[in-house]
Amino acid sequence: MRRRRAQKFSKQFTKQLKKQLNMMGTMADECLACKKPFDRKSKEHAETWKVVVRKKIQETHLYCPTCWEEAMKMIKEVEDQDDNGIREDE
Ligand SMILES: [Zn+2]
Repeated sequence: MRRRRAQKFSKQFTKQLKKQLNMMGTMADECLACKKPFDRKSKEHAETWKVVVRKKIQETHLYCPTCWEEAMKMIKEVEDQDDNGIREDE
């Protein structure tokens, strides 16, 4: 990978972030659902945001904690419905 001089100033934190982001590859920089920007400099974001890698289509999906929670809830509801058929609201 070539590093141009103009990128030198960012080298320091890039190096540091690589450790946290190396599994993410070429990832999106915003939440896929709500378009909230992902702050690559934020350690909190690196730890709390969820990344879903779809190897088949070489794509990385990024979700903020809020949307991830929503997604999990929806998945759970769908699973419940699969078990019990369509339910009415409780
Ligand atoms: Zn979101």
